[in-house]
Amino acid sequence: MKTSTAVLTLASTRVALHAASFLAHNWILAPYTAPWLLGDGHPQSIALTFDDGPDPISTPLLLDLLDANDIKATFFVLGEMVDRQPGLARDILARGHELGTHGYWHKNHLIRSARSIRYDLARALATIETATGTRPTWYRPPYGVVTRADLTAAHAEGLRLVLWGTWGRDWRRQASPVSVMADLRSRFHPGVTILLHDSDCTSYPGSFQATLQALPQLIDLARSQRLTFATLSNHGI
Ligand SMILES: [Zn+2]
Repeated sequence: MKTSTAVLTLASTRVALHAASFLAHNWILAPYTAPWLLGDGHPQSIALTFDDGPDPISTPLLLDLLDANDIKATFFVLGEMVDRQPGLARDILARGHELGTHGYWHKNHLIRSARSIRYDLARALATIETATGTRPTWYRPPYGVVTRADLTAAHAEGLRLVLWGTWGRDWRRQASPVSVMADLRSRFHPGVTILLHDSDCTSYPGSFQATLQALPQLIDLARSQRLTFATLSNHGI
């Protein structure tokens, strides 16, 4: 018994040491500890941002809706998706929107090494530049998990990190236009940066429909408060 207890203690000590070492190199920033990541901008505008595209099914529908309302937004595209749909990435830019990078693969950076995070970001940037001839200036890591490696990699690539001030939680199975609007309203304020998704590639299948159906209400809400829609680069962050 004593031997097995000692082995267990040794094993748990090793696990604790490994975890401590890992966390020392991979700590994350939560928005409440880093308000500069929330993307609060000019108090007369709000910034719409869409993650996880470009998606051949949902992104064109969203682009048409934005065009119809004369709204420009920022799309945090995945390198993997741009590789599959380079023409759609070019179309987003051609219609006056801005591209940011969401990395190449949609993986949680808490379980990735600093080296793989650097590689992922460089690959995403190269993919977007090859497809569109444009280099993004904004970076939002998958799941909004900002590790020390993300800060270092973003700085080395000359990128600005931004998360969001409110979200629609539109990736969920239970998401509906009503729930998306309720979530958006909970932290809605002048100058806010809003997180939504133009693809369900990492979400519940079909969840983008809730986003599309909520958007007209969001547009009405913003316009009732005389707020304009700005890309992140025009948002005064
Ligand atoms: Zn995402």
